[in-house]
Amino acid sequence: MAKSITSYKTLRLILGDQLNASHSWFSQIQPDTLYVIAELKQEATYVQHHKQKIAVFFAAMEQFSQALKAAGHQVLYLTLDDTEEFKGLPALIKHLSTLHQVIQFDYQLPDEYRLRQQLEKLGHDLSIISQACDSEHFYLPDDEIKNYFEKGKRHRLENFYRKMRKRFDVLMEDSLPVGGEWNFDQNNRNKLKPADLAEIPAPLLFTNDISIILARIEKHGIKTIGYATEEVLWPINRKQAQQLLVFFCQTCLPKFGKFQDSMTGKLSLLDQDNGWSLYHSRISFALNSKILSPKQVVDTAIASYHASDGTIDISQIEGFVRQIIGWREFVRGIYWANMPDYAKLNNLAATRQLPSWFWDAKTDMNCLHHAIKQSLEFSYAHHIQRLMVTGNFCLLTGVDPDQVDDWYLGIYIDAIEWVEMPNTRGMSQFADGGIVGSKAYAASGNYIKKMSDYCGDCSYQVNQIDTDNACPLNSLYWNFMQSHQAIMASNPRTKMVYNNWLKKPEEDKQRILNKAQFYLDNIENL
Ligand code: FAD
Ligand code: SF4
Repeated sequence: MAKSITSYKTLRLILGDQLNASHSWFSQIQPDTLYVIAELKQEATYVQHHKQKIAVFFAAMEQFSQALKAAGHQVLYLTLDDTEEFKGLPALIKHLSTLHQVIQFDYQLPDEYRLRQQLEKLGHDLSIISQACDSEHFYLPDDEIKNYFEKGKRHRLENFYRKMRKRFDVLMEDSLPVGGEWNFDQNNRNKLKPADLAEIPAPLLFTNDISIILARIEKHGIKTIGYATEEVLWPINRKQAQQLLVFFCQTCLPKFGKFQDSMTGKLSLLDQDNGWSLYHSRISFALNSKILSPKQVVDTAIASYHASDGTIDISQIEGFVRQIIGWREFVRGIYWANMPDYAKLNNLAATRQLPSWFWDAKTDMNCLHHAIKQSLEFSYAHHIQRLMVTGNFCLLTGVDPDQVDDWYLGIYIDAIEWVEMPNTRGMSQFADGGIVGSKAYAASGNYIKKMSDYCGDCSYQVNQIDTDNACPLNSLYWNFMQSHQAIMASNPRTKMVYNNWLKKPEEDKQRILNKAQFYLDNIENL
């Protein structure tokens, strides 16, 4: 690393997911403050990440550093080459503090437990003043999470969401929800018909050159998953993130809610310009890296709703706002109220290995093939692909939630533990016993058939349960329900399922369970 003898009073660390240009740190130029942004092996390897994910984080960090420099701040950007000699973040900060003779170390509170612990410990170890502050990103300040969430308690999204709408005056009129209802979810369960496919807009994609970063990742021997070309479609700076947000509001929001749960395998992933991301915003990377703030996203979407003369109806805008001020803030609360114990929860005692085809999409199950292939290609899948395709499969087959967490944490462009884990371990795997969601999201092939066109092109038969080519999800579903009857039959949202199952003749039940066992025994070959 280049040696410098410049002295500063304060060293301020900016983590890769803290690219918030509106933070109060940057409201004044302080010549005696050095901002440090560093590519770190510890961050690129704590789990095996998608190639695009590492590259996009590094590219966005570099862009942020350039923007801060252009605004007059003192910034030190360190590449993997510069930081390779340090064992980890604490060693780097100790070295820089001494080198620049700083008397104070500042950091924004990390959103991941792992990093918060590491920096808290570093703060104690350093012989200079160490100060942590809020990242000023979320609606709910960090120190208020405890007022809304309690460890182990089964919180419900709907209650929290209403409180957030009222408190932050979002889509409210005279203290009542705009449109007369809090939640229009029942209007948002449409399937895309063949005629709808032609209308899906081409996504707004960027062509950011990441070739130099990819070479650096390679040079440092960082193991990755997924595919990447020299250009990446994700936004890497504020300008691009704002363009994507505006594009979403003008082009996708009118049908966002309507087709939010839909899936299609008809749009080839080989042609990036067709509508593979449907009406979704793809702003999760920009949000989670803090390039965009949730308030900016919500305010922009609501302004588009008001300006739209009815093309964006209330169920579209409400559905979108609920994801941001509802689900996103909710899972963060659950995470912080329950960590570190949450990371060990395994309520259904699941222990199976994740099949190897999760890393190459080589499965004949068309729904899984498509969701995984898309994830490998773009480091992206939308919510229902994550919850009801890959997540549902892992739930039904009893995959160890540690392995499920690692896969999701690695593969998705937006995956940071605070948001990934409650969604994966909690909502999709029910490993938290219902802290995040009120039921296990278990489904047979019928759900996939209802919400997608995958089944028509599948080698398995979605309407069959125990025949040769029967859709594996059907018998696996009943096997799951049978195996976890004690838990599921006592849950008001799943107990009615047993009305059907218990009425079946014993030999029919056994045939289905045998079929499920066959699929479990041959899980690698599905
Ligand atoms: P859109 O569908 O356009 O939604 C808009 C925004 O709402 C998203 O960008 C996101 O910020 C927010 N949002 C929507 N649903 C959720 C949710 N359940 N939790 C938190 N925020 C939400 N989201 C992540 O940001 N990181 C993750 O690591 C992650 N892991 C997930 C794992 C599983 C098993 C599941 C079921 C969901 C996960 N989600 C995660 C939530 C959701 O799938 C993604 O936020 C969404 O697919 C991102 O794409 P988008 O920006 O196009 O979202
Ligand atoms: Fe998926 Fe079953 Fe449909 Fe095939 S038949 S796409 S495995 S739900």
